[in-house]
Formats: sequence, structure tokens, C-alpha cells
Amino acid sequence: LLGADGRLAPTIFAEMTALATRTGALNLGQGFPDEDGPRAVLDAAKDAIDHGRNQYGPARGAQELVDAIIEHQRRFYGIGLGRGDVLATAGATEALAATMLAYLNPGDEVIVFEPYYDAYAAVAALAGAVLVPVPLAAPDFQPDIDRLQRATSPRTRMIVVNSPHNPTGSVFDEETMRHIIRVAERRDAIIVTDEVYEHLVYDEQHVPLASFDAARERLVSISSAGKTFSVTGWKIGWIMSTPERIAQIGAVKQYLTFVNGAPLQPAVAVGLRLPDEHFDTIVASFARKRDILTRGLRKAGFTVHDANAGYFVLADAAPLGVEDATALARRLPELAGVVGVPLSALARPSRRDLRSTLRFAFCKSDDMLHEAATRLAGLK
Ligand code: PMP
Ligand code: GLN
Repeated sequence: LLGADGRLAPTIFAEMTALATRTGALNLGQGFPDEDGPRAVLDAAKDAIDHGRNQYGPARGAQELVDAIIEHQRRFYGIGLGRGDVLATAGATEALAATMLAYLNPGDEVIVFEPYYDAYAAVAALAGAVLVPVPLAAPDFQPDIDRLQRATSPRTRMIVVNSPHNPTGSVFDEETMRHIIRVAERRDAIIVTDEVYEHLVYDEQHVPLASFDAARERLVSISSAGKTFSVTGWKIGWIMSTPERIAQIGAVKQYLTFVNGAPLQPAVAVGLRLPDEHFDTIVASFARKRDILTRGLRKAGFTVHDANAGYFVLADAAPLGVEDATALARRLPELAGVVGVPLSALARPSRRDLRSTLRFAFCKSDDMLHEAATRLAGLK
């Protein structure tokens, strides 16, 4: 995360997108779709701008959005929330930052499953907390509960869960969730669950941690509109927790952005209320894209891990004679006209098992995925 000067450096996603822009390569690095989301959602945002929703909104979020989040939780998961249980944020990123800054003190330990989304490590560092990674390994990238238990200590303050998982595409099963809750109870730790890919699950069912009663008191749930409605640039996210925690986290959010996204919040409310058909269509469409890219990468000689969820597939370049995927990622535009993210950027250097693996995004047009597969086949 740190540059040569010891300060936070540009993220791997920003670096790889800049590389794609500079070289004109196909950008399968950063996870953002290249096709727009539902028309009704986009039109609702224009409408909100035209109808004067352009000033600071309510501290907890637009009333329509808060109500739509409550309805969505009941409709998809049978979870009952009240208005005091919800806080709208500037994406899941601010939700994570506000939550971690609200609870982590210098020296506190925060458990993450590795490889991990880079923001967890960065915000833990900003809070002065100590990151304690628990490895997820091929082929299934499921947590080893004994290792999780052994990674905890009296200083464990927080466990960050991310299922569906970026970057591996794994989905933690119910038994694993129960174990994680038990470990958190033993250490009296807060569980933060990042479920931004909740609607992009292809071969399994998404089980929100909030559906386990045992977790309720210690749980902060986070989601976001970016992936579900293909509006990653809108940065509308939300937190669901107890009213007491919402007040504590909201107190931090005041000083990060105060409020955000006034006209976009009612538009996301429209999205959350779309008929089931929308949610079924995105699953079918992204599953097809995953299959196109997975097949293409296998044909090109990579070992590809099955992704059950999310935006990404992991492709190990070892069969192509590659040891260092970071070096390959830098040269990939020149070698194949494609950009991918080296998995090492989302893990500690000690994870040698991840060194030869790249993460490729499949949230792209079918044409781009076919073209990327053709180009990568030239690497052999
Ligand atoms: N968590 C994970 C696991 C992600 O992949 C991302 C990237 N979109 C985020 C959080 C950030 O979400 P947002 O864009 O809503 O801030
Ligand atoms: N979540 C996206 C990814 O993993 C990108 C987010 C970002 O650029 N910070 O690629």
C-alpha cells in the first residue's frame, strides 16, 4: 500500500486503469462495467436533479432510500429493519472507513481474509490498527476455521468478512458463517460484513450474515448500489446495524462527507424496488460473461479457478512459465493488449502461492471478453 516515501500510494486499480488508458489495452483490471445499468434508475437520477434534489439531504440518507433498503432486506432475506438501523454512505468505501474509524484504536487487531480488498488494509493503517490476515487458498478459497481461531488474540477488535468475496469469487457457506460468529463471540469482536456483491451470485445462494440471529448485536452490514445497478461511479452505499452502532458510525461519517449523493439516493431507491426480473437478468448475464472469460483463459493456457460470484476470475499463469504476475501485469498491454491485476497486490508478499496469479474482471461486454481471450491466446 505504501510508496517509496512511506505514504499511501495510488491503488493497484488506479495504476492498472492508467496503464490501460495509456496503452489502449482492454481494461480487465479495475472492476467496473462498460454497459449502463437499468434505464429506470438512470432516469430517476435525472428526474431528481430536475426536481431540486440538489442540496444537502438528511444525515441518515434520503427517506425513499432508507425505506427501499428496509423493503429490500425483507423481500430478499426476510430480515426486519427499522429506520434507525440504516445509514446511507458514499459507497461501501465510506461505509467501511466510517465503521473502522469508529471502532478501531491504535494497536487493535482486525482480522481479514487474504487476499483482501485493499481498502481494509489502508483504513486499518489510517486507524493505527494491526491487520491480521487469515489465508484463503486455492482451489476453493474458503476460510480454515482453526486458523481463524488461532489468528485471534485478546486484542482482536474486529473481523471483516467479505462474502461474496473479491477477488476470489468464493461464497462462504452457512457453517463457515456460524464458525466466524462463534469466534467473534469468544473474543467479543465486532463483525463487519461487506456484501457489495450480494446480487452477483451464480451457482450458490447468498446468505447475509444478518440472517444469523446470533450475529445481530455485534454485526455491521455493508452493501452498495455500484455492482447491483452497474453504477460504480455513483458511490451510493449503506450500513445496516443496531441504532446504537448506526449513531456511533454516523458520528464519524459526519466528518468524512457529512452527507452525499442527494439526487442519486432516490434513484438507487428505484433500483432496489425493481421487479425480480432485473435481479434474475443480471445474474444470468454476469454468469454468461464469467463463462466466456473462464473458457477463454483456460484455452490460453492459464489455470483458472471457478468463480461462484462477483466480477472477477483468478487465472494462474504458472502453466505459461510465469513466476511473477506483477511483472507480467506491467508487460501485458505490450504482450497481449490486455490489462489485469496481479493478485499479490491484494495480499502480503509472504503469500508465494498467489504470486503467479492475475485477477481479470468479466463485467465487460461479451465482445470485449471474446477479444481479450483471443489476444491472451497469443501468449502461449
Ligand atoms: N468492497 C468490495 C469487496 C469491493 O469490491 C468494492 C469495489 N467496488 C467496494 C467495497 C467499494 O464499493 P463502493 O464503490 O460502493 O465504494
Ligand atoms: N472494486 C473495484 C475492484 O476491485 C475497484 C474499486 C477501486 O478502484 N477502488 O476492482
